[in-house]
Amino acid sequence: MRKLGKPEKRWSYASWTSPSHFNMLTGLLPHQSPKKVYASESYRRDFLKFNERLGGEGIKFESLIPRLYLPPFLKSLGYKTHARVSLPVLNPNTILNDGFDSYKLMDAHNDFSAILREVQLPGEHPSFYLLNVGETHYPYALAGESRETWPTLHGVHGVFKHLDNHAVGGKIRRPAFNTGKLKELRGRQVDAVRFLDKAMEQLFDTVPKNTYITITSDHGELFGEDGYFGHGPIQHPKVFEVPFVEGKIR
Ligand SMILES: [Zn+2]
Repeated sequence: MRKLGKPEKRWSYASWTSPSHFNMLTGLLPHQSPKKVYASESYRRDFLKFNERLGGEGIKFESLIPRLYLPPFLKSLGYKTHARVSLPVLNPNTILNDGFDSYKLMDAHNDFSAILREVQLPGEHPSFYLLNVGETHYPYALAGESRETWPTLHGVHGVFKHLDNHAVGGKIRRPAFNTGKLKELRGRQVDAVRFLDKAMEQLFDTVPKNTYITITSDHGELFGEDGYFGHGPIQHPKVFEVPFVEGKIR
């Protein structure tokens, strides 16, 4: 991932999967939380970065009006727009799927290699892909890893089929806190990031030169900090803290 540019610590606009993806699709990528500047000015400046991302110019803050949504806007610029998502809460029946040419929920929640096989860049027209990976989400398991080895957290395990239900169904539970267990979970998430870092090379090899790639996260995750586990209905800086790196494939 470092091949793209310098990784930064940034802040997500939301703490849950679904609203965070909605924000990103309105052009609100994780921000730097700069001081001594009006927030609206900071947003405007951030948004102009789309000129660089799309290799164009003349994209203004006002360009998104009135839809305020990237897929129809990109379509108006001649893009084909696609989404391949891993998390069930982002499924094609949700409101997020607006203006995409294709939008698919993957069979497995944690198989980035399967997502990569879906990426096709024909070259006759520019393409935009939203790729949502799930390896870094609870239970932090890689494809092919036997379910028997997945971690079991009382109150969380058993809902992995409805991955975000523990956060979005109003059913946030307080798992029995076990510091050792949370450390193990954090280690599993780090391993998942390591796996993705490596798998990313395949993506870099697949896309044509001049493809602009942004890698970030929809929210952070707490592993026991100040008594919290997970993300969603948690008010803590760590739940907004995300990695951010972007750049062009040369
Ligand atoms: Zn999420």
